[in-house]
Amino acid sequence: MPRYEYRCRTCGDTFELSRPMAESSAPASCPAGHDDTVKLLSAVAVGGSATAAPAQGGGGGGGCCGGGCCG
Ligand SMILES: [Zn+2]
Repeated sequence: MPRYEYRCRTCGDTFELSRPMAESSAPASCPAGHDDTVKLLSAVAVGGSATAAPAQGGGGGGGCCGGGCCG
């Protein structure tokens, strides 16, 4: 079952939940019981430092997406 990361906007805590994909966007309560939570995106193509350096070679961790072949 995939794990999703959430952040509570009430207490600022972050927490992970294992839940079916169908419920990934369903409301989640933080461990302290707050309902005002947001789902965090997984670390895929997020962030400002991903300015794809061209011709770096070597691949980025074994995936094929570094070359843009994943569409
Ligand atoms: Zn909370």
